[in-house]
Amino acid sequence: MNMKKPLVVITGASSGFGAEIAKLFNQEDYPMLLLGRRTEKIKGLPLNFDDSFVDSVDVTDIDALKASIKKAEAIYGPTDLLVNNAGVMLLGNVQNQPATEWKTMLDTNVLGVLNGMQAVLSEMMERKHGTIINMSSLAGRKTFTNHAAYVASKFGVHGLSETIREEVSSYNVRVSLVAPGAAETELLTHVTDQHALSDYQAWKDSMGGITLDPARVAQTVKFIYDMPQEVNIREIDIAATRQD
Ligand code: NDP
Repeated sequence: MNMKKPLVVITGASSGFGAEIAKLFNQEDYPMLLLGRRTEKIKGLPLNFDDSFVDSVDVTDIDALKASIKKAEAIYGPTDLLVNNAGVMLLGNVQNQPATEWKTMLDTNVLGVLNGMQAVLSEMMERKHGTIINMSSLAGRKTFTNHAAYVASKFGVHGLSETIREEVSSYNVRVSLVAPGAAETELLTHVTDQHALSDYQAWKDSMGGITLDPARVAQTVKFIYDMPQEVNIREIDIAATRQD
C-alpha cells in the first residue's frame, strides 16, 4: 500500500477525461478512488489497481458518494484532491427536448458537483489543505446553439465554484475550474436529438474537424494540482486551436 501520496478522488472515471486523469495520477502512484456507474469500464482501464478503489456511485446520490469517499479515506487518509468530472451533455432545443433530459443534466452536472464538494470540504477546511477541481466547459462561459440546458448547468458550475472558492480560500483550500472545448469522448453518445447531433458535427466540420485530445485535459488538471498549495489557478480554458 502506498502511504506516501494523498488520496485523489475522480468522478466519471469510466471514460473520456476522467479515464485520462486517472491514468496520469496512477503513473505517479497516487492512491485513487475511481467513481462511475460502469465499474467494469473503470476496471478495464490500463491502470495499476494496487492502490485504487473502484466504486459504482451515481454522483446524484449524495449519501452513496459520501459513504464511498469515507470508505476510501479510512484506508488512504483524507482526500487531498477531488476532481468533480462526471457530467452529461444532452443536446436539444427547449421547444421539444424532453424535460427529463434537462433534469438529468442539472442533477448530474450541478448537484453532482455540489454533492462531491460537500463530501470533502469540511475535512479539507479542518486540515487547511485540499484541492477541488471542477470540470466545467467553454459552455460555462459562452452560449452554443442547442445547448440551453447544458449551458445552464455549466454556467452553474462556474458560479458555484467561484463562490465556494471565495468562501474557503482563507482555509487554504483551493477550488479550480477546467473549461474545455469540444473533445472526442463518449459525451455525444447519449444525445437523443439527431438534428442537434448533426448540427454539432457540422459545427466541428466547419472548423476542420476540431478535436481536443482528452489527455491534454488530464494534463491541465495535473498542472493545476501540482502548483504549490499557496497557488490557486482559478480557471483554465482549453480548446483545440481551430475552435471558434
Ligand atoms: P464521457 O461521456 O466520456 O464521460 C462522462 C463520465 O461521467 C463517465 O465516466 C460517466 O460514467 C460519468 N457520469 C455521467 N453521469 C454520471 C452519474 N450520474 N454518476 C456518476 N458518473 C456519471 O464524457 P467526457 O469525458 O467528455 O465528460 C467529462 C466531463 O467533461 C463532463 O462534465 C463534461 O460535461 C465535460 N466536458 C466535456 C467536453 C467534451 O467535448 N467532451 C467539453 C467540455 C466539458 P458512468 O456512465 O460510468 O457513470
